[in-house]
Amino acid sequence: MADPKEIQNFDELRKLRLADEGYFVITDTVRGAIIHKVNSKCITADKFNLKVSINGRKQGSYFWVDSIPTAARKFGAKRCKVCKPEFTLVFPSTFET
Ligand SMILES: [Zn+2]
Repeated sequence: MADPKEIQNFDELRKLRLADEGYFVITDTVRGAIIHKVNSKCITADKFNLKVSINGRKQGSYFWVDSIPTAARKFGAKRCKVCKPEFTLVFPSTFET
């Protein structure tokens, strides 16, 4: 299990999306921490800039994690209801024989 990594800038976020591994956790002082798929539409440059640059991480931040159990253990994060990251654990090939 890898440690969560705080994302410092949008370029880093972009590279993680391209790598297409793991998950993003967005922490929020009001809503709590939420796990998203790395390629989810929930993750946008505008939202990232607002939270990290403009609000200066006062209300939360962006992290990369290797797995849903890591996110749950380190942040008590909940799965996003929009991009439903749990479904990425089951590959279509699971159902083929
Ligand atoms: Zn999401």
